Amino acid sequence: MAAIMMRVGAGPFASVRVYQPILRSVAVAALRAVSLSATQSLPERVKIVEVGPRDGLQNEKTVVATEVKIRLIDMLSEAGLPVIEATSFVSPKWVPQMADQGEVMRGLHKKPGVNYPVLTPNLKGFHAALKAGAKEVAIFGAASELFSKKNINCSVEESLVRFEEVIKAAKQEGIPVRGYVSCVLGCPYEGKVSPNKVAEVAKRLYSMGCYEISLGDTIGVGTPGGMVDMLNAVKKEVPVEALAVHCHDTYGQALANILVALQNGISVVDSSVAGLGGCPYAQGASGNVATEDVVYMLNGLGIHTGVDLPKLLDAGSYICRSLNRRTNSKVAQASCKL
Ligand SMILES: [Zn+2]
Repeated sequence: MAAIMMRVGAGPFASVRVYQPILRSVAVAALRAVSLSATQSLPERVKIVEVGPRDGLQNEKTVVATEVKIRLIDMLSEAGLPVIEATSFVSPKWVPQMADQGEVMRGLHKKPGVNYPVLTPNLKGFHAALKAGAKEVAIFGAASELFSKKNINCSVEESLVRFEEVIKAAKQEGIPVRGYVSCVLGCPYEGKVSPNKVAEVAKRLYSMGCYEISLGDTIGVGTPGGMVDMLNAVKKEVPVEALAVHCHDTYGQALANILVALQNGISVVDSSVAGLGGCPYAQGASGNVATEDVVYMLNGLGIHTGVDLPKLLDAGSYICRSLNRRTNSKVAQASCKL
């Protein structure tokens, strides 16, 4: 502004009087340009994948009654969530919280148009899921060798081979498979994770037949800079339309990370109602980003999700009362829902 006034060579008062309207219109035009370019690069709609009933509850210490899980899933589908990860067909020995996976799948009221994927870590889990009526499954690989070793007791390569047989069986049954890559922005054991390693694992899962790859900041250490670098590497190997982000809010970066992901072409976001969950590997981890907070931000950006925020807040309130815990959603706290 000062530079423009200097160039016209008039006194400060004259120039302000004469040029103020012009300057104001320049400023307004600049603002418009900024807001237009910011929103132009954002998607018109975002698909939210609700992971609370599985990823969220799996990390809650209190074992939740089957009917509460079913009620929660039904409330989430009533709130308009298009995808709800319902449970995990993992051995109850490893995850006691998911021991009722069959009852949950059979008990929930399937809403037309809603997908209820389940986690299937191996072929045994896949067959059990199929028997319980699952129409979509998910598998998970890690971008970190040490995390894979400690979490599923095998190397990244070995885990991919194991998943290959699940994908093969799923293809035969016409069941879509979603793939997770964990630790994409950091690992509790290895620290920094190379974007190229993430791209390599994502590419493998995609070429094996996963229709969507969810990139997980499992311990929530990532920042927007790291997110952009990682996405740039992955986008070279997997079409951006097939990518999703899965952010945890441990360091309070989740919404910022999601926003830059949207600006970089992502239109699928995983989140967990009431921010349920946590990570046993990260001290003080506050769990997945809360779905309520994601929907609030997307509503503010004019991005369509199909989710009814008040109904979603009710679902969050319901599960927090059942768990006797405080919500991790800032929006729920501000709305005095708990
Ligand atoms: Zn998660």
